Amino acid sequence: MSPSHTRRTSCRACAGSDLKLVVDLGSTALANSFPRSAAEFASEARYPLVVWFCPACSLVQLLDVVPAEQLFSNYIYVTGTSDTIAAHNREYARAVVEGLRLGKDDLVVEVASNDGSLLRCFQAHGVRVLGVEPASNIAERAVASGVPSVNRFFGHDEGRRLRAEFGPAKALIGNNVLAHVDDTLGFLRGAREVIGDEGRAIFEVPYLGEFVERLEYDTVYHEHLCYFSVSALMRLFEGAKMVIERVERHAVHGGSVRVFGAPAKRGLGHSAQALEFAAAERRAGWTSIERYQRFAREVAENKRALLALLEQLHSAGKSVAAYGAPAKGNTLLQYCGIDTRLVEYTVDKNPLKVGLFTPGSHLPVLPVATLLERQPDFVLILAWNFAEEIVRQQAEYARRGGRFILPLPLPRILEKV
Ligand SMILES: [Zn+2]
Repeated sequence: MSPSHTRRTSCRACAGSDLKLVVDLGSTALANSFPRSAAEFASEARYPLVVWFCPACSLVQLLDVVPAEQLFSNYIYVTGTSDTIAAHNREYARAVVEGLRLGKDDLVVEVASNDGSLLRCFQAHGVRVLGVEPASNIAERAVASGVPSVNRFFGHDEGRRLRAEFGPAKALIGNNVLAHVDDTLGFLRGAREVIGDEGRAIFEVPYLGEFVERLEYDTVYHEHLCYFSVSALMRLFEGAKMVIERVERHAVHGGSVRVFGAPAKRGLGHSAQALEFAAAERRAGWTSIERYQRFAREVAENKRALLALLEQLHSAGKSVAAYGAPAKGNTLLQYCGIDTRLVEYTVDKNPLKVGLFTPGSHLPVLPVATLLERQPDFVLILAWNFAEEIVRQQAEYARRGGRFILPLPLPRILEKV
């Protein structure tokens, strides 16, 4: 298969062309395209996975872009499958309904609304909702569960159409989607259209701070085109005629920021709080290339240390399985070159993934119950952002002597509880 993808030659936020290499993670299979059988391994497409930094606007980004239709048309991450996310969604809806004082005639639009899990939490407060979801199989699932949804890709023109069709929204929510969009500015301009002059555009994105400081390089995959700092977001929001009114930190997805964008009005700039974030980011070094050069060295060291640990367990005759088949795990496995020789299989709670194979590394994905049936000596937690939940749920595996390994930021075997 000859992969069709494009490579940008300039920054997607400011069009600057003096981009600096951060780290090259090699050529990898798409982290959410799971082969169904061994017969599909040979035809798996691989694409360069390389992170860049724009010194002009400080946006950290990928330049190699795989067409969205290829990435998302049969996407199988269904948000409803995790307890941690479900609790996060309930709290998210409550905070937005109270913060914006939403009433029952108010409309909340969510872009990339997935199976409707978050919007269902808004419905519980009695507000009107509309989901916009590009994956047809998942949009249908949302509609079937009672969440009004349209199956469309979102952008500037689509924002205009939605407003004409459904009226302005009091809140437009993009939860963990902005980083997935190639035309970031067009997407934000579409959001600006949807909210009219009174609404708020609320985006939650994985935060660059955790990415850099906790060495979360496995969150790099082809879908994930941007790694946002508040500094870079401020520049992007300005380009869509919005200002950042508020910034919140959240623990979800390994560390996220939720930013509230308001329509730019005369004399109104970014809030003092947003400006403080940007100042702190400068002090932390996240707006200059030197910090990213250190990051690249640490990534290489992580790979060396993780492989050394797994080889050592392998030589000692220990059996190792993995927990989770998240996109991030597929970057980690592929970048480190881990296959079934070192990790026999992985397990996942998502029934849509069970029976498939991890992209590129080809670990079979088995049901979670396999851990108790086969009792491997060690379990490498690929879904490390859910590590606490996983360790709690697998108390019986641990009681029988099983041990957990966390891969990042430094690979380590967890102490017995
Ligand atoms: Zn730039």
